[in-house]
Parts: sequence; C-alpha cells; structure tokens
Amino acid sequence: MERIPLLAGNWKMFTTVAEATELARAIAAGPLPDGRQVLLAPSAPALTAVGDVLSGTGIELASQNICWEEKGAFTGEISPLLLKEAGGTMAIIGHSERRQIFAEDNDLINKRLRGALGYDILPILCIGETLEEREENATMAVLEKQLRQGLDQVTITTGDQLIVAYEPVWAIGTGKTASAAQAQETHGFCRTLLADIFDKAIAQQIRILYGGSVNPANVDELMNQTDVDGALVGGAALKAESFLRIINFKTL
Ligand code: PEP
Repeated sequence: MERIPLLAGNWKMFTTVAEATELARAIAAGPLPDGRQVLLAPSAPALTAVGDVLSGTGIELASQNICWEEKGAFTGEISPLLLKEAGGTMAIIGHSERRQIFAEDNDLINKRLRGALGYDILPILCIGETLEEREENATMAVLEKQLRQGLDQVTITTGDQLIVAYEPVWAIGTGKTASAAQAQETHGFCRTLLADIFDKAIAQQIRILYGGSVNPANVDELMNQTDVDGALVGGAALKAESFLRIINFKTL
C-alpha cells in the first residue's frame, strides 16, 4: 500500500476563530494537488467553524489533543465526540508542547492514543528528542521509549490506523531544521521499531511525518527522503501562501 503524503498544519493557539476560518478558506482555495492529503488542526474553540469551511473540500480536520472519554468531569479536555461532530477525523497526541509545558507523559499519551482509536479517530503520535538528549547521543533511546510506551497495548491491523510524527524539540519553532539526512536516519529507525512493535507490513504502511521548522525552502528536500511521508507544520502553516507551497512540494 502506498503511503499518501500528508501535509498537516498545526495552528497551535495562534488564531482567533475568525482568523482560523479565513485561513482555512484561503488554503481550501488551493491549488491542492491530487494524491496528497491535507490536514488542519485549529485550536479547540475553532474546530466547528473550521470544520464547516472544510466540509466537502477534501481537507481533513484534527484536534491538537484528545481525551479518552467522550463525556464527564474532564475540565479543559477535548471530547472525541465533539471532534467528530465538527467533522474531525484525526488528533495530534503527545506534541512536545504538551509534554514539556503541560507535563504529559508517555502513559497519559498512551491512554489518549488508545482512546482515539476506540473512537475511530486517527492518532498522530508525536515523538522527539530535546537538544540536550541529541547532544548526549540519546536520540534513538528517547524515541524508542516514546514509541514503545506510547504504543503500549495498541493493536492495529493496518498501518493506516496510526501516524507517527518525528519532531525534534530543538527544531520546533526555532527556525532550525533537522537536515534531510538526520530526518531520514531517525525516520528509518522509527520504521524499524514499528516493525518490531507491530510487524513489517504494518510498519511499511504507517506514515511518519517530519516536524520542526518545515518551510517552503526546505520542504522539497525533506519530502524526498524515503521514509519521510509528510510534514507537521507550525509557523509556516499560519500563512496560506507558505502552507500551499509546502502542500505543493516538488518531487526532486
Ligand atoms: C509543530 O508545531 O509541530 C511544529 C513543528 O512547529 P514549527 O513548524 O513552527 O517548528
């Protein structure tokens, strides 16, 4: 099965509802090439409005996090039911900002991920090392721990039930990008691990996105790496022009 490139925009907490709908409209106006999937992740209060704009456009909608319960005393959380009601199909889970600022750990992330699968929501599991960990040569050990614990007791039957996003923390919002070779090395390592966690056929189908200061100038080289199946984009997804250029990356 072919891994369809996924270009995902994570708008974090940067837009008002009005700005988010305007941006969604401008991105939906394209050009959007065939054979690529586009995803927008607005902050929770804008999900419904953006979902309305995206309806019928083929662009997917995601939340930036997800709760494992659909209702109850979970102040501040995003219900899978509300995401689906807004037209959402995917959820970002374990983003480094959730891990670092809000102290989400691998166990909590695993709970969220298993919950999402139970609601037929496609989870995007974010993993990545800090600068300190990279300098200590601990990158692969950190990624292995995040993947194994994040995917503990997860059963999937096909690789299209899970997306992994490798996002080195030192590259997020910093303007520093992993080189294409660094990205390929870590993505290849993650795919080998996924083969061990699931099996080889499933691992071949799982899309592994790269995230960390992806922009119009570096997207082509990154997307041309064998194991880079898409991009999770923050800053450069906040302007329609730059995100559209990323969506229209060139095959070298
Ligand atoms: C992100 O938010 O996941 C991200 C990669 O941000 P940026 O592209 O701004 O580094």
